[in-house]
Amino acid sequence: MFTNFFKKFKNFLWPEIYENNRINLFERSPFIKNFFYQRKNFAYLRTLGDIIFLILIILGLFGPQEKDRNIMLFLSWGVWWTSVILSWFFLGRMWCALCPFPGLARLLQNLKLSFFKNPPKFLKDKGIHLATFLFFLIIYLESTTSLTSSPRYTSFFLISIVLMAAFFGLLYREYAWCRYICPLGRITGVAATMALIEFRPDYRICKTCKEVLCKKGTPNIRPCPVYLGAVAVQNNLNCFICGHCLILCPHNSPAVYLRHPLKEIILNKGKGITCAYVIPFLIGSQLARFLMEKDFFHNWANTLAISPNILFTLLFFWFSMVIIVISKLAASFFRVIEDPILGKFNLTIAILIPFAFTGELIYRSKYFLENIGDFFPTLARQFRIEFFFKWGFTVPEKFIKLWSFSLLNLSLLGSLYLIFYFYYKDFEREIPFKRYLHFVGIVFALYLSYYVLIFISK
Ligand code: SF4
Ligand code: SF4
Repeated sequence: MFTNFFKKFKNFLWPEIYENNRINLFERSPFIKNFFYQRKNFAYLRTLGDIIFLILIILGLFGPQEKDRNIMLFLSWGVWWTSVILSWFFLGRMWCALCPFPGLARLLQNLKLSFFKNPPKFLKDKGIHLATFLFFLIIYLESTTSLTSSPRYTSFFLISIVLMAAFFGLLYREYAWCRYICPLGRITGVAATMALIEFRPDYRICKTCKEVLCKKGTPNIRPCPVYLGAVAVQNNLNCFICGHCLILCPHNSPAVYLRHPLKEIILNKGKGITCAYVIPFLIGSQLARFLMEKDFFHNWANTLAISPNILFTLLFFWFSMVIIVISKLAASFFRVIEDPILGKFNLTIAILIPFAFTGELIYRSKYFLENIGDFFPTLARQFRIEFFFKWGFTVPEKFIKLWSFSLLNLSLLGSLYLIFYFYYKDFEREIPFKRYLHFVGIVFALYLSYYVLIFISK
């Protein structure tokens, strides 16, 4: 029995073919299957999220404006952001199924206050660029303005996203904002390629399906909110794993699967414009953000006689450009950049993906751990409940470092795994290992950069 388990485990970790190596969670767990089929579960969760979101906005607009007297700041930037990022690894893009941002758009559409047009071609083609730009704009504003320390600005920021989503909901049917423009949705979709779960149909069943109701919907049930339907889901980029199309499919084709978290990166190999720019800019922004937290960063700015924001901007672009140039040079050195079926790909980008998304988790969870201890004292100050003052605590710095160090090592393992998998299995040792060595070099150089920036003292 033990040998059997070991074989299965080995095959899961180091599979021959990824496609067949996954566990159907609907078959294994009736609880999970019921949870997805009972649509009211998602409705309850979404309503709860909408209510909490509304309370946060009200607290930001009308509550105290001092950072240590309004819990909405920590709940928004510490709990909410960190949970979204943590969900990338376990739930893929499921966060989007519960997201409160399109709440107003949904309400307008339910009231039939929408033109219900089909999204135009330019949105489909160019939306991706706008979404990527908006995501980095948020990161930039977070680092260079008082957005994260002002409850009112935070509320304005949240309201502005709700209004933009509502505007798109007013013009187009379903969730055009979420599918094409939302900056959080876009980054969540790219990160979901590293998720432990996937929502997929059984393509053999779909081949024989005449109705394709998962895509079209029925007169009583709306179609997929992001214009896919299970039949069109081939990766985790756009599907919300909301399960809405389960009740549309008459053939029980779609299901949720547990899978190897690096499967999609291996299949995709860093292909696509989203990967090519999101990954370098995300890594570049993280290195600049970690650096900005140090005291000597401000000394540098003084020495150069420029403002810290300008220095941050320069470093952000510098680090991002370095990653882009290195990834292109490495690709040309590797020489294999095209596949007859897959098209052009970039292995360097694929190999750096674990660092990009785990780096974001390190950054956000560090903020969470540094501020969680002050949550109850802030609550006490805001609502004058003396009792809560006693519940204040400080998370030891050693623990935060250990947590960050563990995550960083996990990304290193993930990247090295990808290199060795590409060498042994994917390219079947046809390409000499010395050509992979520069990937190993890049990975260790990046590991060291993160290590130094995260762990050197202020
Ligand atoms: S998921 Fe169901 S409805 Fe959609 S194409 Fe496949 S079998 Fe048909
Ligand atoms: S394909 Fe199905 S699970 Fe995915 S977003 Fe559309 S309705 Fe939801």
